[in-house]
Amino acid sequence: MTRTVGILGGGIAGLTLAALLAARGHAVTVYEQDRAGGKLRREQAGGLRFDTGPSLFTFPDVWHAVLNRLHEPDPLDLRPLPGALGVHHTPHGPVPLPVPPRHALFPHWQRYVQAAHPLRAHLTTLLTTPPRLNDPAFLRASAALLRVTGPHASAAAWLRARTLPPALEHALATHALNAGLSPADAPALYALIPALVGDRVYRPAGGMGALLDALRGFGEARGVTLREGVGVRALTGSTLTLDGGEVCRHDLTVSAIDPARLARLRGNSPRPGPRTVSGVALYAALPAPAALPATSVLPPESFRSFRAALRVGALPETTLALVHADGPRLAVLLTAPPTGRSLTADHPWVRAQLRRVERTLNVPGLLDCALDTFTLTPAHYARGGHPGGAIYGAALPAWRGGPLHPQPYRLSPTLWQVGTGVHPGGGLPAILGGALIVDRLLREAGW
Ligand SMILES: Cc1cc2nc3c(=O)[nH]c(=O)nc-3n(C[C@H](O)[C@H](O)[C@H](O)COP(=O)(O)OP(=O)(O)OC[C@H]3O[C@@H](n4cnc5c(N)ncnc54)[C@H](O)[C@@H]3O)c2cc1C
Repeated sequence: MTRTVGILGGGIAGLTLAALLAARGHAVTVYEQDRAGGKLRREQAGGLRFDTGPSLFTFPDVWHAVLNRLHEPDPLDLRPLPGALGVHHTPHGPVPLPVPPRHALFPHWQRYVQAAHPLRAHLTTLLTTPPRLNDPAFLRASAALLRVTGPHASAAAWLRARTLPPALEHALATHALNAGLSPADAPALYALIPALVGDRVYRPAGGMGALLDALRGFGEARGVTLREGVGVRALTGSTLTLDGGEVCRHDLTVSAIDPARLARLRGNSPRPGPRTVSGVALYAALPAPAALPATSVLPPESFRSFRAALRVGALPETTLALVHADGPRLAVLLTAPPTGRSLTADHPWVRAQLRRVERTLNVPGLLDCALDTFTLTPAHYARGGHPGGAIYGAALPAWRGGPLHPQPYRLSPTLWQVGTGVHPGGGLPAILGGALIVDRLLREAGW
């Protein structure tokens, strides 16, 4: 018997799960208040197309696991990104990650990679397997993680114990921000990310938007109904009330929106607490390709003062800036506190951070000569996601951030959740892996 599923939110998580559930015979409708894609949007500026949001495609084996479950060939044509994780401009000097042979830091990098090595074979399992103590594959992967991280709770503590040269330690600590947390708050696993990713950093040949096209296509081919521009205003039991008052009922509802938003739709107040970081993303169409590597990373000068500022919602004196140059397209992503503020390009703090980027990369006036720009601010991320614009939602306490996290997926027998803010981590691998986990748990629960 065909059963109906309503999915709230048409971001990457909602679209992935929609395709997986439709592939198993469910009649799936996705309700998206805006355009499908969520943080991954296709925009135009200066005659160029920009794909906003995710820029680095990592852990492709998780994507391949999605394709395997859908019995689809890979439509993405993933291309290695030159320079992989990019040059990290630390206060102690520039560090390319991965560190190439013949670089003075290479022996230390090798020692670091060896420390993380036992986890490599288990990472896809960790990202795609329900966290259950009766699953041998999951237990083996968790044991490997615990052996590598040892007694160190945070990324900062794990790195300190390695006694690495300060430049390398600073560059590696920057990747704690992949959890949306500063290194002293992020689980130790995030200190291992550069070792685990290595040089396997990709982008689809057609840009990140190709991922969106692929997921839409997989859904369409399996009969998914995607209702764009249709927000869900309330959820009571299995009844969805849409903007405009239309009422819909489904046998199963899955939320692919931020848990704090879902709480509000259900008439509850989300619990305030620590949140992951938000951002200011500036996209610029340049008159000519910038003389920059594909990826440059400017970490905060001091993680201590960066953390202190974020904890009180203040603007850090120097923040993490990621700079992606792709021909005449330039993207500058600045980490900002999750206060839901509209920090546009003319804000003094944003201007100061952009000047720091130009100074450090030795490209004075680069942004002034842009033909066109647009900026996405914490206020933008708050409109579709966490109310403060926290990119990965509420920060998970350490005991929930690791592999043995309790399962937050099933809220009631007919209401489940997936996506950012639900899985530890929050980038595409966690989102895609989370959709696989929820699909499997739903199947086991008889859906
Ligand atoms: C600047 C930036 C850079 C990033 N870089 C990377 C990267 O390099 N690599 C990487 O892997 N990841 C990266 N990420 C993270 C990645 O983009 C996200 O993890 C992913 O896109 C989240 O997908 P999602 O579907 O969980 O959530 P979202 O994209 O937030 O989707 C949720 C959707 O729900 C909709 N919605 C909300 N409320 C309602 C409602 N009431 N009714 C109907 N619809 C609703 C929203 O409009 C939205 O479309 C980055 C994110 C940002 C912002």
